[in-house]
Amino acid sequence: MIGDRKVDVFFDEVMLGHDPQVDLPFIPSRVEKHVRTILQELDFKWSYPEHPGRLSAIKTYLDENPIQGIHLTSGASATYKQLSRVHTTSYLDHIFSLAGKSAWLDSDTTAVSPDSIKAAIAAAGNAIAAVESVVNKKSKSAFALVRPPGHHAEPVRARGFCLLNNVAVAAAHAQAKLNCERILIVDWDAHHGNGTQEIFWADPDVLFFDTHCAAPFYPGSGHLDEVGAGLGEGYTINVPLPEAAGDIAIEKAFREILLPAVERFKPDLVLVSAGFDPHHNDMAMNMTYNGFKVLTRIVQDIADQYCDGRLALVLEGGYNLTSLSRGVHAVLEVLAGGDVPELLECGVKEVTEAAEFHRTAFIDDD
Ligand SMILES: [Zn+2]
Repeated sequence: MIGDRKVDVFFDEVMLGHDPQVDLPFIPSRVEKHVRTILQELDFKWSYPEHPGRLSAIKTYLDENPIQGIHLTSGASATYKQLSRVHTTSYLDHIFSLAGKSAWLDSDTTAVSPDSIKAAIAAAGNAIAAVESVVNKKSKSAFALVRPPGHHAEPVRARGFCLLNNVAVAAAHAQAKLNCERILIVDWDAHHGNGTQEIFWADPDVLFFDTHCAAPFYPGSGHLDEVGAGLGEGYTINVPLPEAAGDIAIEKAFREILLPAVERFKPDLVLVSAGFDPHHNDMAMNMTYNGFKVLTRIVQDIADQYCDGRLALVLEGGYNLTSLSRGVHAVLEVLAGGDVPELLECGVKEVTEAAEFHRTAFIDDD
């Protein structure tokens, strides 16, 4: 029942400060010239898609539709030392030098505004706080509602609107400071988590499982044969899917590929890179709110079975504000103990009901 399980939700308004305004002047650079050329060639006015309204929409919907068992809180910003477990110091020094400035970081249009660095270290810090909450048993599960997102950020490169790899920073912290030896990271965002994959590529203590829209969809990685290397070979599992894939296919991937892998791996902490762009509103894949509920129940069951329920989710993408806010809400209901519907192929329930209606109507007329 909703309210049976305590859930800590991490949120901090500092993260609304990351707000690149394309019309304002940016630090001149080769990337700046390149991006301006791309934007000038568009036949519409481009604005930064990963904007503060994403988090505000989630917070407003949660305030208007409160869920029993949810406790809203915030964590401290990440320290340089915590970030340096997954990013190089030369990259971090570059990122920190951009505080107070506007700049393009990557030719894929990733940018910073004057308050972005504060937002990014708050995002990574709140992901850490979510992990500490579940490991220290302050909550049964936790959800870090953070931005900028993180799963595209590589050790030395900002990409895909991501500056710091929040989920990876949280996992590395759990390994270094919280005695977690085997960490499962599930990434159900529509885009492949290339940064998380790269960070743990050779690490046999982190099992990375990623369902995503197959290349050439951004970022173009996540092929079946990307399985890790060295000691980490076999600890990266990619499930590339066609664009129209939805609830049924992704549930099948979780049950038939993730569950057997988890049985061998036996995690002592479960993390999720929770993106809401697989929802059909974002027009890449075809998931529904019930699909997100089912995936949440699967990872919750894994955590219950192997690690005393220790489950922390970290927000990644999701750009349609309706499906982003309602998707987060649906996931939180399940985390708090809510029911999960059985998934049927889209339309099957309606056809069953229609068949019953017409059968009954026919009998009445007879
Ligand atoms: Zn995404």
